[in-house]
Amino acid sequence: MNRLPRFTALSLLAAAALGPLRAADESTPGYAEILKIDVHSHIFEDVPAINALFRRINVRTINVCVPGGDGHLATMDRIAFQLYGKHSELYPVTTTFDLLAREQLGYTADVITWLDRAFDRGAVAVKIWKEVGIEIKNSAGKFILPDDPLFDPVYAHLAKRGKPLHAHLAEPIDAWQPLDPNSAHHSYYSTNPQWHLYGKPEYPAHAAIIAARDNIMKKHPTLVVVGAHLGSLEHDLAGIAERLDRYPNFHIEVAARTRNLTRHPSEKVRALFRKYPDRIMYGVDAGWIPHRRDRPPTDAQRQGHVNSLELRYRADFDYYAGQGETTYSGRKTQALNLPRSVLEKFYHENAERVFQLKAAWERNR
Ligand SMILES: [Zn+2]
Repeated sequence: MNRLPRFTALSLLAAAALGPLRAADESTPGYAEILKIDVHSHIFEDVPAINALFRRINVRTINVCVPGGDGHLATMDRIAFQLYGKHSELYPVTTTFDLLAREQLGYTADVITWLDRAFDRGAVAVKIWKEVGIEIKNSAGKFILPDDPLFDPVYAHLAKRGKPLHAHLAEPIDAWQPLDPNSAHHSYYSTNPQWHLYGKPEYPAHAAIIAARDNIMKKHPTLVVVGAHLGSLEHDLAGIAERLDRYPNFHIEVAARTRNLTRHPSEKVRALFRKYPDRIMYGVDAGWIPHRRDRPPTDAQRQGHVNSLELRYRADFDYYAGQGETTYSGRKTQALNLPRSVLEKFYHENAERVFQLKAAWERNR
């Protein structure tokens, strides 16, 4: 694939006509031209139409196994590595680990053995999900927080192996607030009441889980942590900046939270990207997960998923790379018009570095 900017005489003339010519590396890349790595994808079927879309619009994913506590771990692992074996450049794998055996003797040693097997087959990272913090409990009936000493040997091992922890911990702050029709997450919490924690004081507070996540980075300063969904601080750009300053190994991705960014003043979001260009990665969090359905999907449903993916990637690009007013999820906002150098880092260079993707893409050739 060609990742270098392409210039035509026409585009140079057009740029000249618009005013002083910007530096060549700052011209806005074309949508299909720029490589877009979606670091947060869940695709568990080999669907030719999805693969064709990715190749056509220049998307590559990291395919994330999750969760570790629903009994589907072996199925996900099998499908994810089959896909990776077949289309290595499209589906590098982020693995996850079992949480069901957590009370058993030798649990962390078994987890480490499982993860090493995944790394031997090319896994690029390890996912930990919100079930740690707001679902699973210890033998005393208390919620297990993500910085529980139980997981320290696992985190230490990841740091030693140089594998990032992709951490979806906590939820948007909206989960702890009354249902609000204006919230970007209203439809999720009105249809997933089990994750809506408002009025349920037995659950840990949002701040307690975020503090536990931060404590992992404090305890394991060489562990690379990628905070999924803007690190669950989508409401607080200053809070994100504070963590990026405090923890040099902390990164974030925007999966399923671009809509939150579009609700902040554009100049503040732009400033965050310009201040931390090496720390923010692109992601969408679209799921195609037939093993969780009651019956197999139809081709019409597959095509529907392809169509929605295509719309999402395009709308995201229009927001991050476009100019002026744009519509995102039905609301008007100002596009960020990020400089080309920032877009290249956001869309692929950071992911290539943090997840060591070049080796992963080459592996099965
Ligand atoms: Zn996800």
